[in-house]
Amino acid sequence: MKYVYFFSKDNAEGHAGLRDLLGGKGAGLHEMARMGIPVPPGFTITTEACKQFFKEGINFIVKLKPEVEVALAELERVTGKSFGNPGNPLLVSVRSGAPVSMPGMMDTILNVGLNDRTVEGLAKLTQNERFAWDCYRRLIQMFGNVILGIPHEEFEKEIDELKQKKKVKFDTELDAKDLKNLVKKFKEIVKQKTGKEFPQDPEDQLWQAIVAVFKSWNNKRAIEYRKLHGIPDDMGTAVNVQTMVFGNMGEDSGTGVAFTRDPATGENVFYGEYLRNAQGEDVVAGIRTPQPLNRLQKERRGDKLPSLEEEMPEVYNELLKIREKLEKHFRDIQDIEFTIERKKLYILQTRAGKRTPLAAVKIAVDMVKEGLISQEEAVERVTPEQIDALLHPMLDPSAKYEPIAKGLPASPGAATGKVVFHPDDAVKLKEKGEKTILVRMETSPEDIAGMAACEGILTQRGGMTSHAAVVARAMGKPCVVGCESISISYEKKEFKVGDNVVKEGDTITIDGTSGNVILGDVPKVRGAAIPEFKELLNYADKIRKLGVRANADTPEQARIAREFGAEGIGLCRTEHMFFGENRISAMREMILADTAEERKRALDKLLPMQKEDFKKIFEVMDGLPVIIRTLDPPLHEFLPKEEEQIRKLAQDIGKPYEKVKERVEALQELNPMLGHRGCRLGITYPEITEMQARAIFEAACELKKEGKNPIPEIMIPVSSEAKEIEHQRKIIDKVARETMIKYGVEIKYMVGTMIELPRAALTADEVAKYAEFFSFGTNDLTQTTFGFSRDDVGKILPDYIEKGILPYDPFQRLDEKGVGELIKIGIQKGRKTNPKLEVGICGEHGGEPNSIYFCHKVGMDYVSCSPYRVPVARLAAARAVLMEKKKKA
Ligand code: PEP
Ligand code: MG
Repeated sequence: MKYVYFFSKDNAEGHAGLRDLLGGKGAGLHEMARMGIPVPPGFTITTEACKQFFKEGINFIVKLKPEVEVALAELERVTGKSFGNPGNPLLVSVRSGAPVSMPGMMDTILNVGLNDRTVEGLAKLTQNERFAWDCYRRLIQMFGNVILGIPHEEFEKEIDELKQKKKVKFDTELDAKDLKNLVKKFKEIVKQKTGKEFPQDPEDQLWQAIVAVFKSWNNKRAIEYRKLHGIPDDMGTAVNVQTMVFGNMGEDSGTGVAFTRDPATGENVFYGEYLRNAQGEDVVAGIRTPQPLNRLQKERRGDKLPSLEEEMPEVYNELLKIREKLEKHFRDIQDIEFTIERKKLYILQTRAGKRTPLAAVKIAVDMVKEGLISQEEAVERVTPEQIDALLHPMLDPSAKYEPIAKGLPASPGAATGKVVFHPDDAVKLKEKGEKTILVRMETSPEDIAGMAACEGILTQRGGMTSHAAVVARAMGKPCVVGCESISISYEKKEFKVGDNVVKEGDTITIDGTSGNVILGDVPKVRGAAIPEFKELLNYADKIRKLGVRANADTPEQARIAREFGAEGIGLCRTEHMFFGENRISAMREMILADTAEERKRALDKLLPMQKEDFKKIFEVMDGLPVIIRTLDPPLHEFLPKEEEQIRKLAQDIGKPYEKVKERVEALQELNPMLGHRGCRLGITYPEITEMQARAIFEAACELKKEGKNPIPEIMIPVSSEAKEIEHQRKIIDKVARETMIKYGVEIKYMVGTMIELPRAALTADEVAKYAEFFSFGTNDLTQTTFGFSRDDVGKILPDYIEKGILPYDPFQRLDEKGVGELIKIGIQKGRKTNPKLEVGICGEHGGEPNSIYFCHKVGMDYVSCSPYRVPVARLAAARAVLMEKKKKA
């Protein structure tokens, strides 16, 4: 097994295809070296070595040593420098790089190779004493912090004290003598905290750094990040050892981060930030506010700082060329780290850029138009979660408000919540169901759990590529950074801006699209769809095999669903229609009727109202199928519970109180979910089914006469036996015939059933003789398969998931093992006796991407979900086709 891969201008042993082995960073470096892009030479120690290290421990290092020594010798040869040689010292960086990007989660050590002797050599060689000592103090600081576990503050305190003593504001104002003193102090800190001297042997430094990077794969924040993003724990990280280049060699040097497109909006403009005379970590840490990359960005941000384009036009132009080359080659937005050492440009990293959901959609569609990727690839690149995020709120453009501050718009969307200053508080309040805005000076990887728990993030410092900005974008969470006009006091738990003092617990709104910070709540609207959003879903529509319908009970919901691309209604629950002001009393009258005659009279009152409801829905869905479900819930749900209300009801319908009370009590059930509900109602009270059928067909016939094209499909709920459907459909077919004759029009319709009880699935061959369609009601089917009450399971489930008994909540994501098996049996048996049987799903799972994938695999005809999830389902259904294709290949 080869554990070390070398790369330089003329010799790159790896390539982009070796991502799992070399990590994302490593694979990118090898590929860039092959492409002739200027990368400092180095070598990558593979993820396999990391895994082996975890298996064998420090013994493995002995085995790794010879290969690293060969690579190091080669590095010395190509650079003409040598490790530990004061005459011409080779300095390296040691960085982690996992197969999946985990920004800032693992460790990095820079300037490895510096010691009391080589620092002098570096000073002489660069004729810059200050620079050399600055590098050395950075090494001791990083090494001390990352490898020896000495808190960062121990070192920072010394720097701050020195700056105060010298009455200067910036690190750059410290001179060589100051830095020499700092080095001395830092070495003392190391000695005092660890009992050992700072290691002077460069090889010793290197090996300690390599081991530290291996180990950082299992540090707390890395584990937390993996859990949050579903990254497997056994991948391991590669280690990249690379020749140092210096962005802090003076005013003709610098370092920066650039995105080949705008990662917030997706716009095709070169975008980034840089800092003159600085090292990489200064940009990422967000401690100094960086300069814009180019004029365009400067203009847009209203920035006063000069851009790279203005300060070093040749370097900028070279970078611009590399941008094009990289995008063409990798066919995706790239996130590049670069360093300029005395006007010479080096690229230190390229990777697929993290982007907002908005940018993900825009970039994918733009790249199709530019001929870079196919429509399939565009669909593969946008996740259902990103589509979902775009449907989330933004500030209502017509709302009036006065911002109290403005920062950089780092991640779009608007959020409102109570101000908290500590990430733990965001987590605690979330548990209580409260919404928070996390306000920090800047964020660091330790804050990750709090960042996930809050609604939005506001930071005082940092740029568009600071930790807060990058992480918030990946989470699709509103974020404003670099809001320099606020001043935070963690101690007093407040921030001040102008005359305003905002305390912990106060409500604020942040707008990650404009950068505005506003006191109180501001009305929001759902994301205004950019044209690319529709376009991407059009691509998805061409690919997907599953139809997408919506669960909609009102004309308004139906309208939204149709706008979002629903191809019909998969479930219209009729019970909600009975709760309106004057309807509920007619409903109650019907329920409390003593005779069929009385019941009919009450139903006659309901009929015209139902008819109007259906007419409106058919109109909105003109030309598309609408599945209307007959009454489902147990009747007592419609009755009052309190004495006073019961008295009033008795009065309204002119019956004695005692009698009404008795009836209400009689209707109570111990197990209403398994009680007198669903088609059982229609079987005991056929008049109800009859009335509903009449309302449906009268509505349809009237519209048909007006020249419209209503397509009713009537669905019978909670069935467990074929004869139930036979019974119900007789009523429906009879009413349909009568009504069509009465109006003199022909309506095409279907009658089908929900499959939401195991027995219905198991006897589907019989059921399908009477049903033209099945719709899997997986809410009830999950309930009855597990025997979990869907209304009470919340008390039990967290334990089940925490203890690993269930992998996830089966009411959210379909349980393929059990419920899925019943679905498979149901489809297979149903289609056996009725090959034309149409099959769909209308439980909550119909809008959940993993479940949609399952529905695709088992050959359903469509999924039906809430209107807002229709776009998500359209994309997920297309991705299901692509995933299946990949699996087969
Ligand atoms: C179901 O049970 O999955 C379903 C869609 O019906 P309801 O949620 O109305 O019981
Ligand atoms: Mg149900």
